[in-house]
Amino acid sequence: TAAATSVVVVGAGLAGLTAAADLAGRGVDVQVLEARDRVGGRTHGIEVAPGDWADAGAAYLGERHTGLLALMERSGLKTVPTVMEGDSRFDVSGAARADSIPGRFPPLSGVALGELFDLLDEVTRSVRVEAPWLTPDAERLDAMTAAEWADDRLRHPDSRLFFPLFLGEMMAAAPADVSVLHMAFYLRSGGGLRYLNAFAGGAQEWRIDGGAHRLSEALSAGLGDRVRLSEPVTAVEQDDTGVTVRSAGGATRADAVIVATPPVLADRIDFSPALPAPRSGERTGPGCAVKVHLIHPSPLWRRQGLSGWSVSAEGPLLSTVDDSPADGGAGILTGFVTGDEARRFAALPLAEQRAAAVAQAGRLFPDLPEPVGFHVTDWVNDPYSRGCYAALFGPGDWLALGPHLTRPHGRVHWAGTETSTEFFGLMEGAVRSGHRAAAELAARR
Ligand code: FAD
Repeated sequence: TAAATSVVVVGAGLAGLTAAADLAGRGVDVQVLEARDRVGGRTHGIEVAPGDWADAGAAYLGERHTGLLALMERSGLKTVPTVMEGDSRFDVSGAARADSIPGRFPPLSGVALGELFDLLDEVTRSVRVEAPWLTPDAERLDAMTAAEWADDRLRHPDSRLFFPLFLGEMMAAAPADVSVLHMAFYLRSGGGLRYLNAFAGGAQEWRIDGGAHRLSEALSAGLGDRVRLSEPVTAVEQDDTGVTVRSAGGATRADAVIVATPPVLADRIDFSPALPAPRSGERTGPGCAVKVHLIHPSPLWRRQGLSGWSVSAEGPLLSTVDDSPADGGAGILTGFVTGDEARRFAALPLAEQRAAAVAQAGRLFPDLPEPVGFHVTDWVNDPYSRGCYAALFGPGDWLALGPHLTRPHGRVHWAGTETSTEFFGLMEGAVRSGHRAAAELAARR
């Protein structure tokens, strides 16, 4: 085969759009086929008040996310700091308690958190991040769930209480959903426990001004009519001279294809020849997150000296963050519902979701009135995400699937945050995977 001169990219999330922009820049004839009627995938903006946008999907980034920051700069997009001034609220012992040191959990014992973080550090350090399946002891770590690991090792009641909250916040996972190898890999891939967990100086330092979806919109605008919406791809057929990609609008012919969807959605496409067994079969489970936005006329909690950040052991909102626009305007309180709680919450009627979220916000932030707006974004049941923040690798998944995640299947190459061992599961991982896939095609001979 010659270097690809025509490429179809399946999926217009950050990974697919990054790959397409790189290829277009090299003069390759590229077509992006996107199933939804919008670009951005797991980034999505909703206008919650005139001119004020909230991130219904991904929101936060930090200074180590250099691929993302470079693309943002090229698109003229700026960061806004995540506001973290004032006291935070922790409801981990039944009753909401105030605390004055964001980033720490005084209602829980420091000894307990030390125990948890030391154990997590130890297992995280042992992972071979660029090839987790080659980690010493990989078989044992891959066979065990994070729930079994915690049961076995965490002695202190507070560390046992906090561990599922931590995993819910970091990975939108319940401890039974992931292998220890995946948990350790994820933490290492994202820059380590402390970087991933931190606001100032960490992975939650900033948001994208105006919403994360702006970046995909800017990349898509640069590609113009090479991006085709409402074109779910159903089949990818290879023959001796090229590939035929079948979508709602008909058949598109190309030299090669980049599939830039989560693995679970790639698996719904009919490939011929068929994918090798480890790449097919619904292996990885979905992360489970529902995002909730409570809209107030302004960030009212700030007047009481509260940051808007909270963590609760009792649902539905595992945590809340103040995502209000930097220049004043609406008060946007974002709530995260994750893991098993997300599955339950997603099934409730909107009125019950609202009542539960508003009641909890009222307990956390005294005197907070009824919100003027309320939005729920259910990623659990979204047919073109099937969960988030990212795929969860359960027992057996890394050893079986790991080596195949990026291995081309003939003319089919792979992108998407789940194919990146750097910043897996994050926007940065998606961007890096897009650059990698485009470079692979440019080097194809
Ligand atoms: P996607 O964005 O999923 O793109 C895949 C695209 O493929 C989609 O547009 C989909 O519609 C399309 N598609 C699927 N099937 C087909 C088909 N058959 N044919 C054609 N198109 C198809 N990351 C961070 O960095 N920071 C955060 O704060 C953060 N928080 C998050 C919070 C939530 C609620 C969610 C949902 C995600 C969050 N993430 C966060 C993760 C981040 O959104 C993802 O890692 C990233 O956006 C993934 O990009 P991608 O291009 O790999 O995949």
